[in-house]
Amino acid sequence: MPNWLSIARARATAGKPPLIPDDILAQAIADSWALVLEIGRRTETPPGHTRPAFSQAEQLAADMVRDFIAARGLPLEYDAFGNMYVLLPGTEPGLPAVTAGSHLDSVANGGNYDGLAGAAAALAVVAAAHKAGLRTRHGLRALAMRAEESPWFNMAYLGSQLLLAYRDRAALGARRRIDSGLTLKEHVQALGYPFRTDAEPVLSPANTACFLELHIEQGPLLIERDLPAGVATAIRGNIRYPSARCFGEYGHASAVPRQSRRDAVMAVAELALGLDALWAELHAKGDDNFMVTLGRFGTDPAHHALTKVPGEVEFSLAMGATSTETLALARRRMEELVAEITAKRGVTFDLGAEVTAEPVALDAGLIELLEDGIHAQGFEPLRLPTVGHDAGIFALSGIPSAMLMLRNPGGSHNPKEHLEEADYAVGCRVLAGAMVRAAGG
Ligand SMILES: [Zn+2]
Repeated sequence: MPNWLSIARARATAGKPPLIPDDILAQAIADSWALVLEIGRRTETPPGHTRPAFSQAEQLAADMVRDFIAARGLPLEYDAFGNMYVLLPGTEPGLPAVTAGSHLDSVANGGNYDGLAGAAAALAVVAAAHKAGLRTRHGLRALAMRAEESPWFNMAYLGSQLLLAYRDRAALGARRRIDSGLTLKEHVQALGYPFRTDAEPVLSPANTACFLELHIEQGPLLIERDLPAGVATAIRGNIRYPSARCFGEYGHASAVPRQSRRDAVMAVAELALGLDALWAELHAKGDDNFMVTLGRFGTDPAHHALTKVPGEVEFSLAMGATSTETLALARRRMEELVAEITAKRGVTFDLGAEVTAEPVALDAGLIELLEDGIHAQGFEPLRLPTVGHDAGIFALSGIPSAMLMLRNPGGSHNPKEHLEEADYAVGCRVLAGAMVRAAGG
């Protein structure tokens, strides 16, 4: 933790009365909730909501955020890629700002709250602090980002990566959106943003003290414990093979004897169960951070048949963990299994392109600050691992980051995703407390 941010001092005041008067905060929360619902209403694509990355629907959300900010007399700024932020300056202008936010896009036919709730909550805090005339030592900044969801450009966190220049921005701009075939740069420019790769990133560790992201939980842990809010301990890294294949040999199902079969389905099934056994081993040891999924698994309809030994399977493989050691172990086990199955079953595997993301540690001091805030709202905070989010790009860019997770009974990336207004209000209050305390309010 950089020495400018006194978490110990911030924590010492966490249970004290809020510095933003409650009526002002309550109104800002209600207004931002109305914004969430209105964006949802206008980007509904039954079933669910669709706001593709750098699309007109995402832009509609961005324009409504712009109007929300303008109506409150706050100065809005954009980076060269359409990410939006509003900064309420602190009393010591040289100090980096305490920042919060999330993304505006969604997956196809997804929910309304994934991302949007976090952007709206950050706006609520900054709007309320402004209305209350609150002056903190550090500035308070709310962010609404673009293009977090991976399906559109086959890569996640594009908005935050562009914002922070985390990866080569020209290379990011050359990626093509799967539905339109146009490049990311073309999409950004079509929306009226310059896509300048030579510009210094507008956010950096020098001007961003920390990043807090409020987000719906995408698993069932908070619902299972009947708790409104939790704090993420780490962001899972992963090793993914989006389009892997296993090749065997087609043959007559009733004629080819066991020793001659080269059955691709049995081979991939053995790989799946071998990795599932590793998961069971880790789970039995109390390590619940590993996950393995073969989300796609199919034979070729042009060739497969009830009476044919399957000669080819196309599948995807995703392994995730919060520690690099567990991910390395999973990779070793997978390689051993592939070698064994290849030798035993006479098949060959082509795993195709590998996509990896390192696990990301979240900041211990900020985690405790958020937990204090949940306690102050009268609830027990739950610690839980989480999947990838923009906060991971901030953490990897050297900005201390943490995530506040809110209960969601419907799962995520589907139309049933849900957030109760009361839980959103708890989340906003926790976020407000953490931001103001961290900013030296
Ligand atoms: Zn999200």
